[in-house]
Amino acid sequence: MSDYDVIVVGGGHNGLTCAASLAKQGLRTLVLERNRRLGGGCTTDDTIMPGYKHDLYGSSHVWIHVNPDFTPLEAELSERFGLRYVWADDHITGHPSHDGPGIVVYRDIDKTCASIAHYSERDARRYREIYDNFVDIRDGFVTSMFSPPSPPGAMASVLETTDEGLELLRDFSMSPHDFTMENFEHPVVQTFILGWATAPGIRPDQEGRGELIYIMIPAIHVFGESIPEGGSVELPNALARMVKAYGGEVLTEAPVAQFLTTNGSVDGVRLADGREFTASKAVVNGLNPKLAFPHMFDDGALDRQFLRRVENYNVGEFTIVRAHFALHEPPRYANDELSQTPFQRIYGSVDSIERQWVDIQTGVAPQDPFLWVACWTLKDPTRAPEGKHTLIMDTFVPVELASGESWDDAGEAYIWDVQLPKLAEYAPNMTEANIVASHITTGPSIERDNPCLVNGSTTGGAMKLYQSGYFRPFPGYSQYRGPLGKLYLTGPYCHPGGAISGAGTITANVILEDLGLREPDFF
Ligand SMILES: Cc1cc2nc3c(=O)[nH]c(=O)nc-3n(C[C@H](O)[C@H](O)[C@H](O)COP(=O)(O)OP(=O)(O)OC[C@H]3O[C@@H](n4cnc5c(N)ncnc54)[C@H](O)[C@@H]3O)c2cc1C
Repeated sequence: MSDYDVIVVGGGHNGLTCAASLAKQGLRTLVLERNRRLGGGCTTDDTIMPGYKHDLYGSSHVWIHVNPDFTPLEAELSERFGLRYVWADDHITGHPSHDGPGIVVYRDIDKTCASIAHYSERDARRYREIYDNFVDIRDGFVTSMFSPPSPPGAMASVLETTDEGLELLRDFSMSPHDFTMENFEHPVVQTFILGWATAPGIRPDQEGRGELIYIMIPAIHVFGESIPEGGSVELPNALARMVKAYGGEVLTEAPVAQFLTTNGSVDGVRLADGREFTASKAVVNGLNPKLAFPHMFDDGALDRQFLRRVENYNVGEFTIVRAHFALHEPPRYANDELSQTPFQRIYGSVDSIERQWVDIQTGVAPQDPFLWVACWTLKDPTRAPEGKHTLIMDTFVPVELASGESWDDAGEAYIWDVQLPKLAEYAPNMTEANIVASHITTGPSIERDNPCLVNGSTTGGAMKLYQSGYFRPFPGYSQYRGPLGKLYLTGPYCHPGGAISGAGTITANVILEDLGLREPDFF
């Protein structure tokens, strides 16, 4: 007899969401996590600066609240397992500018449009139009984001039948740059929109990504933004409590070394310390394909064509250099509305955004980078000693420097000489005198902490068209079923891609359908 019904490899929030969904249905479920801390890309450290809780990776929880299968889990997680989301009821993101007051995205659409109208009434109207159009596409968008993806022609075959649909298809095909320039007129608004659209790691000239603007703008106002009280790790911690409450187990410091296969089917796993666990119904791989498939299966278990697809998987072309600071006081911007906003996207201009991507492509450390800055203690004071604050600041950089220098060596200077002075241009109190302590991470250190973040990639794999939707992670494997019997897939390398989205629920649904424990959804 097998030890468990299901084994989930990787205790990231997706593996745990999948495990919690299955355990709730009565399946005996085991989660195996390499690290001492749960959560992978959705975790918090309170040891590097005692008293301060820093989200090491993902921290802004937006997409998980769009996931309809997470909603019932969340209710139980908060009622029984200690998860508490803190919501941004008013200020969500700030976009400081050297020209005027900058733009604030509020939960409220009217206040946001008023902020944009300071620069251009026409741009504010266009922004509102995009928000209003969401009513028509909302259900289709939610379904397509949180279900196994449809073949590439499916959406087009519906949209191409009407004039409005054709117009949408055309806009969806555009690059973020072309969409922005066509739809918005003021340079500050253009910078704000293009910065936002490229923030998930999309190049400004990447065609076929216009759809993101149609979705990101309204989604933030409709679904809102939140952080877990006490740090991102509180989500995986609560999910682990749920797994255990439903009879499952979650083992940390349990690195999987090998998937065990017999006759084309996966039966279990072996840990690095030699312990073996078997599963009768499913084994879920929550690890990056580059990590799992070439290294953790017996020779000959996987066919060559599949392994070639794994080899061709593009993990992403940039990494980040990130500082975690403990602060005496939060950043103070010229506009007090920005100072009250915990999360800032600081982009200089459309030109500087484009130049940064050229720098990334050519292996140059960007000297005029955008900054992603979050002072979560403005919303959640439990993350620092009374009166003190935390700050995360990062930007995208090339994975490898053309100079040959490693980010392990170059990271510190890049923070103190490039990023911090840039932040101080907008928030003058952000000098070294305001910093109590600091901790700097770069691509190599990120990958050492979680080897699934190959090359320090934040997206779990490039979000290119050839690697999205029906093609993610590989043609023929987008339905969350792996290349061997009983093997299933979850993680940022699956549709809908890298984010705190709880997309492990999709994998759980597919497993339950295969076991005859759930009716498939028909749309
Ligand atoms: C710097 C950064 C910032 C981000 N910011 C945001 C954000 O603000 N908002 C947002 O929505 N998304 C953000 N993301 C993306 C998001 O955090 C990730 O896509 C998401 O956390 C991935 O979750 P996962 O559970 O699928 O994978 P992972 O979190 O990568 O989980 C995989 C798990 O497997 C474990 N593991 C590795 N090897 C083994 C092994 N051999 N055996 C057992 N376990 C193993 C890892 O330790 C890890 O816990 C960010 C990502 C990064 C890197």
